[in-house]
Amino acid sequence: MSSPKKASSRIRPPVLLINIGQLLTLREPKQHRGPRRGKDLQELGIVEDAAVLCAGGKIVSVGKTHEVLRDPRLKKNPGQVREIDCRGQVVVPGFVDSHTHPAFIQPRLADFEQRISGATYEEIAEAGGGIRSSVEAVRRASRPELSATILAGFKQMNEQGTTTIEAKSGYGLTVESELKSLAAIRDAAANWPGTVVSTLLGAHTVPREFQGRSSQYVELVCSEMIPHAAKQRLAEFVDVFTDRGAFSLEDTKRIFQAAAASGLGVRAHVGQLSETPLEPLLPFEPASFDHLDQVNEQDIRELARHNTVATLVPGANFFLGLEKFPAARKLIDAGVPVALATDYNPGSSPTPSMPFVLSLACTHMKMLPAEAIAAATINGAWALGLENRKGSVEAGKDADLAVFEIHDYRELPYWFAASRCAFSVVNGSIMTNASSSKLE
Ligand SMILES: [Zn+2]
Repeated sequence: MSSPKKASSRIRPPVLLINIGQLLTLREPKQHRGPRRGKDLQELGIVEDAAVLCAGGKIVSVGKTHEVLRDPRLKKNPGQVREIDCRGQVVVPGFVDSHTHPAFIQPRLADFEQRISGATYEEIAEAGGGIRSSVEAVRRASRPELSATILAGFKQMNEQGTTTIEAKSGYGLTVESELKSLAAIRDAAANWPGTVVSTLLGAHTVPREFQGRSSQYVELVCSEMIPHAAKQRLAEFVDVFTDRGAFSLEDTKRIFQAAAASGLGVRAHVGQLSETPLEPLLPFEPASFDHLDQVNEQDIRELARHNTVATLVPGANFFLGLEKFPAARKLIDAGVPVALATDYNPGSSPTPSMPFVLSLACTHMKMLPAEAIAAATINGAWALGLENRKGSVEAGKDADLAVFEIHDYRELPYWFAASRCAFSVVNGSIMTNASSSKLE
């Protein structure tokens, strides 16, 4: 739902960023096509003393400051360009947060306390907490109420340097409230200059009223939710929580088939609580498999041969207090394309911060800072099918940039839980951060 109409109706003067200390272009390495794998994940394409010229919501020129300043477009329109001196700071492609659940109403504070007192994710779910405890409030909420909460989430993510967001429904679990959630995501997206990709997650959990009749619920997802969401153009992807206590492999195949029949892409939550067999799902060409805390060697070899992105969400492991994190090193070294995302949600990962996720990736999954940055930008774009528009700073791509008050890109994950994003350029519009005084 990238709202081309919205983008073209907005008047955005050209923006010129100059004196960038390190510009991380993430431009495509030579002889390379497809999501980043192995050593390519370390190729940031850094240009020092760089500049970027954006016009009409697109990046039009990238290079050394003195080169970009010679661009004929600048001579033609002197005085019309908004020039910003980056004073030696670091500029990255805006983060692509390719896995979020923003369509909720309240934080889940009772779950939080129960977990601190020793209850597990599954025990909390069995006691009536977990995903189901978010459902009632979403069913009761009006669409404007929901959209206001979603928009607040988008803004918080943007303050951390995120410019593209995948947003899932999944706390309604009726045809009406899932469609309401997707419509609320669309409303929020229309009021935010960034790019939003929406995903129907009707198969998040089996709702209480279908307890013991999960196949009837799957039928409802396939025969009503998916066709309606597709017909009303409310979703681009369909997601399934394929795990112990949620949906089976067979359920997932049925849902993927229904999604394909409606022309929607697919992705799945897999291997969070137990190992999910992945090979049977690969023929559906999922855009991503997300979580992957448990994955076997055979599936890792298979993933290395496909373009399905392994999206890791270490914020959830951190917040659930788990000792074990996804085996990023193993996946990367085997050639699996890896992305990083927040998994922003009220139960297991209430963080809007991609920089914090990068810190976790470095400290708990042993990813190098460069690998974490590529996973959070260009590979996130691949995970959403937006690789031609997002995730790198190259002429022709959308003007999505984040400027950080640091002088070495490795500081991005180093200053953990800090908020050093000074401002961002979002589809060509400048978004200043309330906490920052750096943009005069
Ligand atoms: Zn999730």
